[in-house]
Amino acid sequence: MTGPKINTRFIFVTGGVTSSLGKGIISASLAKLLQARGYTVTIQKLDPYINIDPGTLNPYEHGECYVTEDGAETDLDLGHYERFLNIPTSQANNVTTGRIYQSVINKERQGDYLGETVQVIPHITDEIKYRIRLLGDKNEYDFVITEIGGTVGDIESLPYVEAIRQMKWELGSNCLVIHLTLIPYLAAAKELKTKPTQHSVKTLLEYGVQPDILVCRTEKPLNDHIRNKIALFCNVDSSSVIESIDTDSIYKVPLLMQEEKLDRVVLKKTKASAKQPPNMKKWRSFIKKLESPRRTVNIGLVGKYVELVDSYKSIIESLIHAGTVNNCRVDLRLIHSEHLSHDNLEDKLSGLGGVIVAPGFGDRGIDGKIAAIKHLRENNIPFLGICLGMQCAMVEFARNVLGLAEAHSTEMNPGTPFPIIDIMEEQKRVHIKGGTMRLGAYSCRISHSSKVYGIYGREEISERHRHRFEVNNQYIKRFENAGLIASGVNIDSGLVEIVELKGHPWFIGVQFHPEYKSTVDSPHPLFIDFVRTSSMI
Ligand code: GLN
Repeated sequence: MTGPKINTRFIFVTGGVTSSLGKGIISASLAKLLQARGYTVTIQKLDPYINIDPGTLNPYEHGECYVTEDGAETDLDLGHYERFLNIPTSQANNVTTGRIYQSVINKERQGDYLGETVQVIPHITDEIKYRIRLLGDKNEYDFVITEIGGTVGDIESLPYVEAIRQMKWELGSNCLVIHLTLIPYLAAAKELKTKPTQHSVKTLLEYGVQPDILVCRTEKPLNDHIRNKIALFCNVDSSSVIESIDTDSIYKVPLLMQEEKLDRVVLKKTKASAKQPPNMKKWRSFIKKLESPRRTVNIGLVGKYVELVDSYKSIIESLIHAGTVNNCRVDLRLIHSEHLSHDNLEDKLSGLGGVIVAPGFGDRGIDGKIAAIKHLRENNIPFLGICLGMQCAMVEFARNVLGLAEAHSTEMNPGTPFPIIDIMEEQKRVHIKGGTMRLGAYSCRISHSSKVYGIYGREEISERHRHRFEVNNQYIKRFENAGLIASGVNIDSGLVEIVELKGHPWFIGVQFHPEYKSTVDSPHPLFIDFVRTSSMI
């Protein structure tokens, strides 16, 4: 990239006291405010676990696996970054300890270290710093915000904190550390307690890192006394003690951070030149719509990981975005596919305007999904099938309409006589599980006469994928003759990407994941239209 060199500032976001304080949302909120001031910003997540990426993790472990345009399987926080900033992230935005060690070990095997003893400091920390600086090297960003997963004090976080210490030393005011802590409220004493924060900052100090700003998660407002006390014990000025009060929507956090002047403190401390005040007009009108819906729509989400809502994070957020466009509140009913059967379907799906059947892997809960789809198809209830949800719709249709009773996906039944969903030829040779699915953005051509053409308003679209199995094109004519149309097809490979049922008010299955592309600024057309139709039923 040409043009004047940008003086990139590096901001680190660490967490103390407990996990789940909302580091991802704070990082995304700060980034939003800086972006709204006219700065260019990107956010990166460094995860201290040993897996190379979260692609092989069970959703119960870390929630949804988010997929970027370039096909990286990443932490769900990257979804928040994209939803807040409306700019794509990439593989470089999520790095794990596993990936860091893998590159260092590969270099060692190639002889790059010329006989040195390879150690955590400097080799692992150098690799960490390289991955952080890489985003700044592109000369694209005024700010690179790097969120460190886990909690300060964990053994596995140590090399990251050490890398921050070194970068702070090297970069001076171009580097800033924001530490998130918890201020618990003790009901018995009717008091907010600062001691866990003091201890957490002390732990950071032991590693040589003085945080510049403290963001304090709390259920009650922080008064001046508490702010001054935290400031005094933690060597920060009281204007750098930022309250992060519990709120009912993550989308309100940027505005709360603006009220607390987090962005102003950051600009002052990094000596960044003043730009316009944050233009949050569009964001505020989104919040206004979120807060004053004109009606409610009941949507069901059928999946097997419903005990943990984080497993379906992007779908849930996409529905919220689509709800605001339609001026309605989406009331979501999470339905466990393992607990669904023909006997209780009516009851479990009653009162729903529309139902999404979720993505997934393996055959647990598959019969419940198929049974639900039959009910939705036969009763003209809007249905959106995503990835495995679409594959289940094909299986249901093959069995109950085409009369192929034993039809299945070869993922669930490798010996099925009617493999209507099958593994791709090139996937048959793949034995390694990590990073080997069909991943990332692919183009799709939509046929003019279809419903989805009206929804997208375009002939060519690009959507993100994460799957191994595909519609078996040998059966497609039979499906189409019976009314289930392949309305979107991959331009290069001819693979079926979208199916829709003729004569049904809204029955669409997509092989891709539209939920990865819905943002506050740009809600996804499929979700918008699905919610709109569901609210009319
Ligand atoms: N298990 C299916 C496949 O691999 C669907 C994957 C998904 O829903 N993301 O093709």
